[in-house]
Amino acid sequence: MQESSVLDLENLCGVDPLVNTFCELISYDTKADPDSTTVPSSVGQLRFGAYLLSAINKLGLKGVQDNNGVVSVSIPASEGMENVKSLCLLAHMDTAPDKSGADIKPALVKNYDGSGIRLANSLVIDESVSCALKEFKGQDIIVTDGNTLLGADDKAGIAILLRLMHEICVDSNLKHGPLKIIFSVDEEIGKSTDHLSVSDIDCNYGVTVDGTKEGELDIATFNAYGAVVNFKGRSVHTAVAYKTLHNALMIANEFINMLPASQRPETTLGDEGFYHIHDLSGSTDSATLKMIIRDFTKEGMEQRLETVRSIISFLNNRYSKDTVDAKFTFQYANMADVLKDHEDYISLIKDAYKDAGVKVSLNKVRGGTDGSNLSNRGLPTPNIFTGGLNCHGPYECLVVSSFNKAYSVVRNLVTSMHKLS
Ligand SMILES: [Zn+2]
Repeated sequence: MQESSVLDLENLCGVDPLVNTFCELISYDTKADPDSTTVPSSVGQLRFGAYLLSAINKLGLKGVQDNNGVVSVSIPASEGMENVKSLCLLAHMDTAPDKSGADIKPALVKNYDGSGIRLANSLVIDESVSCALKEFKGQDIIVTDGNTLLGADDKAGIAILLRLMHEICVDSNLKHGPLKIIFSVDEEIGKSTDHLSVSDIDCNYGVTVDGTKEGELDIATFNAYGAVVNFKGRSVHTAVAYKTLHNALMIANEFINMLPASQRPETTLGDEGFYHIHDLSGSTDSATLKMIIRDFTKEGMEQRLETVRSIISFLNNRYSKDTVDAKFTFQYANMADVLKDHEDYISLIKDAYKDAGVKVSLNKVRGGTDGSNLSNRGLPTPNIFTGGLNCHGPYECLVVSSFNKAYSVVRNLVTSMHKLS
């Protein structure tokens, strides 16, 4: 069992500017709040945005923070590169609501020996919580003290883009086309692209720096719908309930049991879609169920929606009409349907990986990214890894070498955009 050291991390910050920036960024608490009605959902994101804005302006670049808290910077092309295709790079400021992002105390595991890692509060990261970790034996890994998440998702992405801006400002050999850098808000509660306009972004291509394991290039995401299903009961005294009572809770239970048990998040992987019930409340009189529906193909999604509708109509026939109704909400669509028409761009990114010494593995995200919506609105936006692992909880960690390679990938991409016609 290996321990982590705060002192080792401080020493690393002295020699690794990317890690130093990262450690500064995670001192800001930017946890998103799903119950908030404000934009952004937490004041921490506004404060963090103001800090980023001042860091950007100190570099001599002109950043803006809009009314929603989104920070953006337009960087004009290097001389002679004005006609190069424009690129928008995005990372998100908020952290997941699942775990505290306040008072993060990072520490370093030096030369990871492949065993378990004991965090300061005695929590252990081992194979049971992270099967990817053992691939990074021999590497330095930044971990939490076990009481908070780390915030690599997505402050690792923000650190990479800040570093890029810094390099652009100090290194005149770093030639690039027109760039836009965006730090978005409330990505973790699915709202970030509500506050982004593809026409305002006005770029040919996009990329999010919000992935996880080294080498992964996310080029596909789920198609996603949410549904709220309402069940109306017929409540009568149990003494006279025989053949009269319609118990809304039991009808909701019937609904759940009619969904295929083999198609849940916990029973599917790879290309398989699912139905996921995530909230159920009510009484005999009425009940409400909330679910999400996921599928990689449009046809598959249509079939799933049809399955839910047919279960509802079966139950309405069985009890009485209007016993069950549902409201479906579109959430996001698979970016692959858009990216397949931009092979040149994807192969440019693959080359950026190879030139950084990173083996590419094309990945289908069993979820969504900012790129899902942006791609489907006309800005082709795949997702690049950051080196962060086990995000959204206390086991979150950041592999230092992967993190630095992710920066090289982004830099390579920016300097090779002129190869696109
Ligand atoms: Zn993220």
